[in-house]
Amino acid sequence: MSKPPTSSRVAVVGGGPVGLTTALLLARVGIPTTLVAPPVGGTLDRRTAALFSGSVTLLRNLEVWEGIERTAAAIRGIRIIDGRGSLLRAPETLFTAEDHGVAEFGFNVPNASLTARLSEAVEAQANLTVVPATVSSISLTEQGSTLRLADGRDVTAAICIGADGRKSLVRAAAGIEARTWQYPQAAVVATFEHQRPHRGVSTEFHRRHGPLTTVPMPGTASSLVWVDAPEKAEQLAGLTDDDFRTALEAELCGLLGIVGEIGPRGMFALSGMSASVLGHGRVALVGEAAHVIPPIGAQGLNLGLRDAAVLAECLAQDFGVGGVARYAAARAPDVGTRITAIDSLNRSLLSDLLPTHLLRGAGLFALKSVPALRRIVVQEGLQPSGEIPLVMRPGGLERLSPQPGEGHRA
Ligand SMILES: Cc1cc2nc3c(=O)[nH]c(=O)nc-3n(C[C@H](O)[C@H](O)[C@H](O)COP(=O)(O)OP(=O)(O)OC[C@H]3O[C@@H](n4cnc5c(N)ncnc54)[C@H](O)[C@@H]3O)c2cc1C
Repeated sequence: MSKPPTSSRVAVVGGGPVGLTTALLLARVGIPTTLVAPPVGGTLDRRTAALFSGSVTLLRNLEVWEGIERTAAAIRGIRIIDGRGSLLRAPETLFTAEDHGVAEFGFNVPNASLTARLSEAVEAQANLTVVPATVSSISLTEQGSTLRLADGRDVTAAICIGADGRKSLVRAAAGIEARTWQYPQAAVVATFEHQRPHRGVSTEFHRRHGPLTTVPMPGTASSLVWVDAPEKAEQLAGLTDDDFRTALEAELCGLLGIVGEIGPRGMFALSGMSASVLGHGRVALVGEAAHVIPPIGAQGLNLGLRDAAVLAECLAQDFGVGGVARYAAARAPDVGTRITAIDSLNRSLLSDLLPTHLLRGAGLFALKSVPALRRIVVQEGLQPSGEIPLVMRPGGLERLSPQPGEGHRA
């Protein structure tokens, strides 16, 4: 006998950080939601994510920040060092939070701690049903969608949200096209102890095959994203800890002193993806189901959390195809600008063309010497111009949440 379907107003597919946040937000603004997310298993996500102030305020508003903060470190400075070894070396540039009148630019958060705390909150949230399964097929109609799960059950919903990562089944089912591209690069990630304090400064070495970035962790530890040619990354990932330590010390040129204990390493091939639209009809895409960018300038997850924030706001105010259309239109400029900016920066490092180096060097020189320009660039990197989504402002979620006696939306 077939089991009765689980029905709700919205189904969110995917339990990564963006899917968890989206489901939590929708339930909190009063929309009955089902989250379909396979149980977490397999390898632990060893990455950390630098989250900027809007993202942190969102997590505070969702009352999950307290548990995450214990594992996070404040980022109080961002240093860029041109280690490309070209004829024209750009000057070292340091942006400090103090210069920009804030206590910190954001926090570096372990992905595992972020998803663990969000999962706890999701389990405890009223108005939110969690179905621990994988979606195997989706059928869409003008009224909504039916998701067939791998165990044969069905989930029906008026609106379907794809938070199912770069190979999104939701995106494919909705017929949304995606442009994909590859970079001749892979990233090796790890955390490591070091002798000298990082003083809250994240350092990005711009190198010939990609950037090497250290981001503060609590104490005298940092997380590392070392982007290099795929063969080199493979070799680095396979080194003994002692040999990896030696290689890392050489790249850091003594910046953090002697490198101590190194955590387990992970490796990620670098690619890019851009969905042609972030939603249409009764389907919306968030996070890496909609856009993938290389891990440079810490933009990917911040972008995904802004998707979640704007989608919740649009659906709370206008549940249905109108809300989805508003969401897609509102997010397109931010997503498009970030994809272009990060892609251009990465390609400028890989390029052998002198004019490209001149441009990059001139850009860094201008950043170093023109404070007003520096302010604009830092501001744009941390929070794009335009309106800050309501739920990313202090107390903003309360303004969207239903008042006592108001009942469910939609
Ligand atoms: C090395 C590296 C460093 C990074 N550093 C930063 C940083 O400092 N700051 C920053 O902002 N970003 C950073 N990023 C980007 C960030 O990690 C991603 O943007 C983020 O993890 C994407 O989250 P997501 O929830 O959209 O996707 P995912 O984490 O991929 O989640 C997708 C989920 O969907 C599930 N799923 C897939 N198919 C189905 C299905 N059919 N049914 C049900 N569930 C399904 C999967 O199991 C998965 O749980 C970094 C990325 C890399 C590679």
